Amino acid sequence: MKILGEIQTPIMIEGAELHEKQAQELLSEMHVKKVKAPKTLLDALAFVHAQVTDATARRYNLVNGEETIMYYSILPELGCIGVPDLVDCTTGTPIVVEKKFVGRVPSRIWPDHELQLAIYMLSLERLGFKSVRGRLEYHHRTSDETTRIELKLDRQLRKKVKDTVKAVRGIIENDDEPVPTTNPNQCRACAYVEKCKWRALGV
Ligand code: SF4
Repeated sequence: MKILGEIQTPIMIEGAELHEKQAQELLSEMHVKKVKAPKTLLDALAFVHAQVTDATARRYNLVNGEETIMYYSILPELGCIGVPDLVDCTTGTPIVVEKKFVGRVPSRIWPDHELQLAIYMLSLERLGFKSVRGRLEYHHRTSDETTRIELKLDRQLRKKVKDTVKAVRGIIENDDEPVPTTNPNQCRACAYVEKCKWRALGV
């Protein structure tokens, strides 16, 4: 199964190590020895449904790391699959948490992060969970500065996800060139910068 965010930058590795430590600590507390990776889409959906049901009933977090995946985010109808950093089930209602380690903590959520988180939230809805919430955490790379932004799935955001997926599919199917950002800061923080032929000038 192919996982989003295949290409690793030092920032992502730093974040991944942190998540892996959390995941391993949690699994050792739960005395879970090994979770078998699902082989089919149906297996995967059943696996993640069971994971969230158990976590919300027993009020613990599903933490994903490099080697330990406790939750996959899957939206078959949109052809999306991903691995959020964490699903916080400690309140009994799942909250998808995505953490970004950045050089400058933004005051507003970046549009691509908003879409990523919205897709994760939609995947939980798809499994039948209600009142799903999302939280984007921006952590400064070298200081304790942190901003947490809550996200709700409203009609506008749902439409944005559908329109974006449609546009991306159109680009792939028609072999069109995408319209890249001209913001070098965005490219510097991007996981794909080393392989991207459209990156902003000077990066
Ligand atoms: S490096 Fe490429 S994919 Fe990444 S933000 Fe820049 S233009 Fe977009």
